[in-house]
Amino acid sequence: MPLTLIAPRPIDEAISSAGGVRFEAMDSNLMLTALPGVFCAGEMLDWEAPTGGYLLTACFASGRVAGAGVLAWLVGRKSGLIAPSAA
Ligand SMILES: Cc1cc2nc3c(=O)[nH]c(=O)nc-3n(C[C@H](O)[C@H](O)[C@H](O)COP(=O)(O)OP(=O)(O)OC[C@H]3O[C@@H](n4cnc5c(N)ncnc54)[C@H](O)[C@@H]3O)c2cc1C
Repeated sequence: MPLTLIAPRPIDEAISSAGGVRFEAMDSNLMLTALPGVFCAGEMLDWEAPTGGYLLTACFASGRVAGAGVLAWLVGRKSGLIAPSAA
């Protein structure tokens, strides 16, 4: 996917992306409500943090939430609690 930079910033600012998937578009497991089975984490999310370790920490933390969400979703599907048509 071609990506055109229209407003690059200095490295102190450019190490973090801005924008992304809005939290309102996901459930508490970071699964897209419009696309069940698709999960988001890290820089995919619409959040901004100061540099200095907070970015990696939040990426790892949101990855953990999404990973647990994937597992819960798969277990729910296998047990029949989530209809396959929701996939
Ligand atoms: C130079 C620099 C220094 C930084 N220093 C720090 C720091 O000191 N502390 C800190 O907390 N944060 C730091 N950050 C920010 C931090 O590294 C990022 O916020 C974090 O790594 C983002 O993690 P992520 O998993 O969301 O995305 P990424 O680490 O970008 O991972 C996304 C992955 O998806 C892969 N990918 C992309 N498209 C596809 C596709 N279509 N199919 C399959 N795979 C795909 C990419 O190859 C990549 O491996 C720094 C960033 C930069 C650039």
